[in-house]
Amino acid sequence: MPSPALVIIGSGPAGWTAAIYAARANLKPVVYEGAIIEKNRLQGTLPLGQLALTTEVENFPGFPDGVMGPELMERCRKQAVKFGATVVTDDIVSVDFSRRPFVLTPLEGAPIQALSVIVATGARANYLGLPSEDAFKNRGVSACAVCDGALPRFRNKALAVVGGGDSAIEEATFLTKFASRVYLIHRRAELRASRIMQERALSNPKISPKWNTVIDEVLGTEKEGVTGVRLKSVLDGSREEIPVAGMFCAIGHTPNTDFLKGQLELTEKGYIRWKQTNRTVTSVEGVFAAGDVADDYYRQAITAAGTGCMAALDSERWLAAKGLAH
Ligand code: FAD
Ligand code: NAP
Repeated sequence: MPSPALVIIGSGPAGWTAAIYAARANLKPVVYEGAIIEKNRLQGTLPLGQLALTTEVENFPGFPDGVMGPELMERCRKQAVKFGATVVTDDIVSVDFSRRPFVLTPLEGAPIQALSVIVATGARANYLGLPSEDAFKNRGVSACAVCDGALPRFRNKALAVVGGGDSAIEEATFLTKFASRVYLIHRRAELRASRIMQERALSNPKISPKWNTVIDEVLGTEKEGVTGVRLKSVLDGSREEIPVAGMFCAIGHTPNTDFLKGQLELTEKGYIRWKQTNRTVTSVEGVFAAGDVADDYYRQAITAAGTGCMAALDSERWLAAKGLAH
């Protein structure tokens, strides 16, 4: 069984940054970037991570004119390969962290051993699951206001945000910088968000809550993208159409940690628990975590890349301290 010093699982900004640092440290990392299969396409976890699902990224330092998300990830991948990372296009479907070396089992290929592992498998945004929502992704439907809110298509237009938690409030408040009006669509009459966030949003004259309401359908045209949403009252089933240029989903995220259950300590929400402040260590010595899979708070490309760098340095130092570096 092949036994590299370090295996990195995941192919977003966290995984590639970890790979660049580890490769430059001569650890010859093997990166499992994910499998190209229908399940991954449907849930948004194809290789190259969440940025492969978007168009322009305007807030990644070093690109004053913006960069297309997929291109940024291709460049990161190329940089990792250039310094000696080996890339395997496959999913890791199970791990055994009780043995040393650790044993990782891919979906298609043969199992692989590793002295150290960096998990950088990210998270996926939850969507409502409507076919019309799927049809307008990247054309008015988004799950990241910080990423997409400033795009020209949303400027001075009415927008809809779905959800009642802190993310929804944060997204709605952020979007008022650009939008003429933000409808906050929540399925109950009470927000889940913290009191201070609620007060901030509800006192904002640009935010109009729509209580006890769900989105029944996203409306739009091939040419314009999203032009409105059809709402349905959960109280009496009545329907209403409102014109909006965008629909932002803020109904939570799901971390890609199913394959880790019982192997690593996870939070109540299924994220990997970092066990030490300012370190990427997990509950298993030699296993490190980076990016959105362990961070349900910042969820940005640059923070994922930052923790990817930290994980590579943590792994490199751990291997050296144990006398395991090749
Ligand atoms: P991810 O990017 O989530 O990548 C993880 C990848 O690992 C998965 O996609 C998959 O390919 C792979 N993987 C998962 N499980 C396995 C497994 N078991 N085995 C092998 N491989 C696996 N942030 C910004 O800073 N600016 C933006 O403009 C911006 N725009 C965004 C637009 C959209 C539409 C979305 C959804 C997000 C956006 N974000 C943006 C957020 C940003 O994309 C994420 O914070 C960042 O990608 C997280 O990086 P990551 O490396 O932790 O994981
Ligand atoms: P969350 O707290 O789980 O809230 C999700 C919201 O989406 C809830 O209001 C929920 O409604 C709604 N929802 C879920 N599924 C839905 C569906 N299918 N259709 C319609 N609505 C649906 O998630 P979050 O807001 O992303 O927050 C995640 C964590 O990050 C929280 O701990 C939060 O405090 C934290 N956070 C903090 C800040 C901050 O402090 N600045 C900012 C963002 C996030 P119900 O209420 O009816 O269940």
